[in-house]
Amino acid sequence: MVLQKNRFVSIGLRMLINVEALNMVESVGNVVRHRVVPYVLRIRPGHYVLRWVPAISGEALAHAYQLHLAEVAKSRGLPVCYWCSRGEFVKHFDLLFWLRTMDALPYSDEEKRIAQSYASKQQFSLSDIQDIERAIVSSCVVEDVCGFLVQQGPTKRTSRFYASFALPTEESVKSGAVALDNQFFVRHAPEAEAKRATMSEVRAAAQAPYYVQIGSAIYGVTMNFEIDGIGISSVTSESIVSDDEAKKRKSAALDALKEMLDTKMFGAKLTRFNPVIDYEIALAIAQRNVSLTVSPPTKRFEEFIEHSVVRIFRALKDVSDAKARVFLWAPTSDIAREVEKILNDVESKLGEEYKKMIESGRLGIELLVSPSIRDFIDRIKHSLGLSR
Ligand SMILES: [Zn+2]
Repeated sequence: MVLQKNRFVSIGLRMLINVEALNMVESVGNVVRHRVVPYVLRIRPGHYVLRWVPAISGEALAHAYQLHLAEVAKSRGLPVCYWCSRGEFVKHFDLLFWLRTMDALPYSDEEKRIAQSYASKQQFSLSDIQDIERAIVSSCVVEDVCGFLVQQGPTKRTSRFYASFALPTEESVKSGAVALDNQFFVRHAPEAEAKRATMSEVRAAAQAPYYVQIGSAIYGVTMNFEIDGIGISSVTSESIVSDDEAKKRKSAALDALKEMLDTKMFGAKLTRFNPVIDYEIALAIAQRNVSLTVSPPTKRFEEFIEHSVVRIFRALKDVSDAKARVFLWAPTSDIAREVEKILNDVESKLGEEYKKMIESGRLGIELLVSPSIRDFIDRIKHSLGLSR
């Protein structure tokens, strides 16, 4: 089945991460703190408790995603602006900055033109805003996919890629299988410190104790793609780039996620706190004419899968011209067996109507067992007609 347009992909992922410092927020003295968030947990209907749990922000994940997207796009000859190429995602924040720096930096002709035309302009028409968006989208794949906010206009493009925070699953918080701990370290340098102590002008200590807060948890995260919004104007909904270029950009957008997830290169402190990451399950719904986000992967394992499948089935019943394909990826066969059991339960609960919808081709369910999450993203790409 090749879906054509108005396509939306929602992905839920669970991962067991041990000893991570992927999202650090501040240093207080010699303590570097992990991000923590308030988390409301339902103990039983009507009864709730608040817990503070480690988390990885959507900003941290989107930053890593954009770094991978810039690399993938550049390697395929797709345009990426100077600042996104450097991993400094300032996103054309103020065209006056572009005007002041354009003689020294390799900006595209379109970027220079909008800097000259609009940097100091006071009143903006809708066609000015359309022109600014068009110039930036045609100059930079990262900003096409991940959006921007420009002072002039102001001109805003909403990201076509959405990322949630990665949060501990509810079961793990309930059972106490989530932890934060301060780990003590010291740069041991007694002789250097003895010498340094005699030098009043050298303030930094040679021997330095420090604490890094680390987290261990089973995290769930959701990521969505508004696939057919890539290469399209937010103002007019018209194409900004050719169909061929748009297809290449969509393919690069999914491949960037593939690189990020498989290489596990995301988050902070990877050089000394490179965590142990085990993906547990991934579920994606590739959809046409409906935009459903998967059920939270932080829910119970069975509930995450069952509710996602039941909800898309229900949505397809209501939206007669919608189609969807559910992809489930399990890295090991024992997890796959659990998933199969859940899918069989769903089938017996939903009965004939569900079977008919699958037979008609409007709903597809695929379970993939592979050690590589690359195979999961490739299946999604294939269903969207984006295989290279
Ligand atoms: Zn850019």
